[in-house]
Amino acid sequence: MKKVSILGSTGSIGTQTLDIIRRNGENFSVCALTAGSNTSLLEEQAREFKPEIVAVASEDAANDLKVRLADTAIRVLSGEEGLCEAAAIEEADITLGAIVGIAGLKPVLSAIDAGKDIALANKETLVTAGDIVMARAKEKNVKILPVDSEHSAIFQCLEGRGELKKIYLTASGGPFFGKKRAELENVTAKDALKHPTWSMGAKITIDSASLANKGLEVIEATHLFGVTADKIQVVVHRQSIVHSMVEFVDGAIIAQLGSADMRTPISVALNYPVRSEISGDSLDIFGTGNLTFEKPDTDTFRMLELAFSASKMGGTMPTVLNGANEEAVSAFLNGKCRFLDIADMVEGAMENHKIKENPSLSDIFCADSEAREFVKVKFKL
Ligand code: NDP
Repeated sequence: MKKVSILGSTGSIGTQTLDIIRRNGENFSVCALTAGSNTSLLEEQAREFKPEIVAVASEDAANDLKVRLADTAIRVLSGEEGLCEAAAIEEADITLGAIVGIAGLKPVLSAIDAGKDIALANKETLVTAGDIVMARAKEKNVKILPVDSEHSAIFQCLEGRGELKKIYLTASGGPFFGKKRAELENVTAKDALKHPTWSMGAKITIDSASLANKGLEVIEATHLFGVTADKIQVVVHRQSIVHSMVEFVDGAIIAQLGSADMRTPISVALNYPVRSEISGDSLDIFGTGNLTFEKPDTDTFRMLELAFSASKMGGTMPTVLNGANEEAVSAFLNGKCRFLDIADMVEGAMENHKIKENPSLSDIFCADSEAREFVKVKFKL
């Protein structure tokens, strides 16, 4: 039986992970659960899965949770320290990283330091500190198993198959596919939250609408698969059936297909190296219709090119791209800026930044704060 610590258990990935565990009780048990502030759902999850520890981001949330769980023996922790302790809990065999944003970085590093294999959904961890995370994972001999559907697909396509020439990273195109800049002037957060194929948390859904998500995934892939960004071609594939493809040096292209259900990549990571049955409908291969592949419109969706540039520049630049994007997306979700401002804010923060090569963890957090501050001041947020 694998014991799992789940970081971000109240989110979209977290709840789907618990759904897999609920249906495979004989294979998994839960030893830790964490959330930001959703104490009512965390209480419900804790009563059902009976972890040893639960952790939340703030002291206030922890005080509320302590009252809610007073009749149980579950330990309630708080803050960065509490999240890191939950991530590295001794009992865990594997830690699933599904906190959103750079807030997930330190807990994932704690789990690596404690020798836990990582099922990684939190792409911002690799975007901001990929070199440090991958080096530490190598040093501690822990596996980083991708949960992002595209990276899971690439991982599955690559397994033991030889030298790769190119990665085709697929993108649904999001809710604004086919629109030009002028048509995006006045779109609202409500419009951007209507993703055509995937049901996900708010931040990644906005990132999908701006193609920032694909940009972050390009950077994530460079770290996971040890390639430079110029070996990655983003392909718009509206049907979200091919989850990515790999071309090998002999010209063969291997693709991974499936329905748009995150439970498959989560299950691949949790069960690795074996596969386990998932209930639900499998892909109706005759019902898929035509599969289409197109080049992305980078004039309209500028975040993609900005991410390629940040990846090439390296050092602290991907952290700046990520920090400015997190701040801008939060502003957009709160109605404080327009959709098209997101890329302008990120570009401004990148132009303003002096890159630090081979950054330490503290350089990374400095670059993140600088980018967020730049966005707040420049755009009067
Ligand atoms: P959600 O917003 O649905 O969930 C985020 C989780 O993180 C929640 O449990 C939330 O707690 C917790 N959280 C938020 N802020 C903090 C904080 N400061 N400290 C501690 N915990 C915090 O996000 P998703 O599940 O959609 O995404 C999670 C990660 O997985 C992201 O990095 C995303 O890019 C990646 N991913 C997601 C996919 C998806 O299908 N959803 C697909 C591929 C990757 P609370 O509920 O209390 O706010």
